[in-house]
Amino acid sequence: MKFIADRTLGKLVKQLRMLGYDTLYFQGDDFHRLLHLAREEERIILTRSRKLAARRPRDRILTIMEDLPSRQLEEMIQKASLQLDENLLFSRCLLCNDPLKEISRPEVEGKVPDFIFSQQKDFYGCPTCKRIYWPGTHLRTMVQKVEGLKKIGQ
Ligand SMILES: [Zn+2]
Repeated sequence: MKFIADRTLGKLVKQLRMLGYDTLYFQGDDFHRLLHLAREEERIILTRSRKLAARRPRDRILTIMEDLPSRQLEEMIQKASLQLDENLLFSRCLLCNDPLKEISRPEVEGKVPDFIFSQQKDFYGCPTCKRIYWPGTHLRTMVQKVEGLKKIGQ
């Protein structure tokens, strides 16, 4: 399941990427371009516009009704029945959407703060923006959140 979100859903985009879902963030105004991308790459459109789905019955459009980003993710889990897989957490760059690649410790040394380098064993990098990720407290928080969200989806 792949997604493309319109520009009103920036926070939801990051949350979906955190969960490992391939999610494009479309920040432009050109709706036809968004439709075109969605069709070409077989993505489900996420939007807050309630009119869109009615006007475009043939496209796969998911209308998000909730205002709060935390509730938006719950809404998506219910409507799209997302599979929440802990192995996919932090497998994707939050900024670029690209899959992360494992990088060796010697490559990381000097590029992250020393205390992080000494505490963490595994590091992952984005091939596009070169940002370095490591499973720290974020991951634990996210695992707990996913556990909570799984209950919502049942
Ligand atoms: Zn990146």
